[in-house]
Amino acid sequence: MSRIIAITNQKGGVGKTTTAVNLAAGLAHLAQRVLLVDLDPQGNATMGSGIDKRGLGRTVYHVLLGQAGSSDVIQRSSHGGYDLLPANRDLAGAEVEMVGIAQRETRLKDELRALNGRYDYVLIDCPPALSMLTVNALAAADAVLIPMQCEYFALEGLTDLVNTIRKVKAGINPRIEIEGLLRVMFDPRNTLAQQVSDQLKGHFGAKVFDTVIPRNVRLAEAPSHGLAALAYDRSSKGAQAYLKLAEEFIARRQHRSKETS
Ligand code: ATP
Ligand code: MG
Repeated sequence: MSRIIAITNQKGGVGKTTTAVNLAAGLAHLAQRVLLVDLDPQGNATMGSGIDKRGLGRTVYHVLLGQAGSSDVIQRSSHGGYDLLPANRDLAGAEVEMVGIAQRETRLKDELRALNGRYDYVLIDCPPALSMLTVNALAAADAVLIPMQCEYFALEGLTDLVNTIRKVKAGINPRIEIEGLLRVMFDPRNTLAQQVSDQLKGHFGAKVFDTVIPRNVRLAEAPSHGLAALAYDRSSKGAQAYLKLAEEFIARRQHRSKETS
């Protein structure tokens, strides 16, 4: 069965897309079948996967509005080794246009369910807002992955997100859980970052991934070449950190399935 993960944080520029693209490439590198869903009108995950968002006839927007089936829209990120459901600015209109659609919160869920079995992992890159698009991601997801920078206000922002997840759990998606919190752009020499990191572990315990993603310029450069860091500079600290995260991800899933079997 596919495990569907929404990568979300309503704060902008915290590393959601970088995590989505590089975790997708890392999991694919470890022989997992991966679909990356770009659910952000900015289309950054699409561009970062080497697919030009400007030339696309059909995108996730058409899938959400029932104008195309996902199999007709999915493309291959050849360097990344994973499949992509792309997005571009069209998606900005979806919020308004979906108002008239029945069961609009579960449009993505229904589409992904139709793909069941084709992928080991479906990763959803969310926009920086708690919008209808993000609600669609949360309705579809088994779990959320929250990338965060260890800054002073980071924990405060987390409260809103955790409350939203709680509401989703009480309403449209009772099975949703927090997959994990991922510390990104981490600088171990920064004392504040260390303190926030300790607070995070104190509060969320084992939900905090052991893997830490360092600040690394290769991670910032790779998208302009349409590549994941693993394809751009395999030995870079950033690429290796995301590969380690992919390993931790798979190990956690195996551990969980052993516990429940
Ligand atoms: P948005 O909310 O706009 O969708 P986001 O949460 O998806 O943003 P990213 O686009 O992944 O965030 O990252 C924001 C910026 O930080 C980008 O320029 C990205 O290249 C850079 N960046 C992300 N992670 C790292 C890292 N570990 N080291 C260095 N730069 C990074
Ligand atoms: Mg993004």
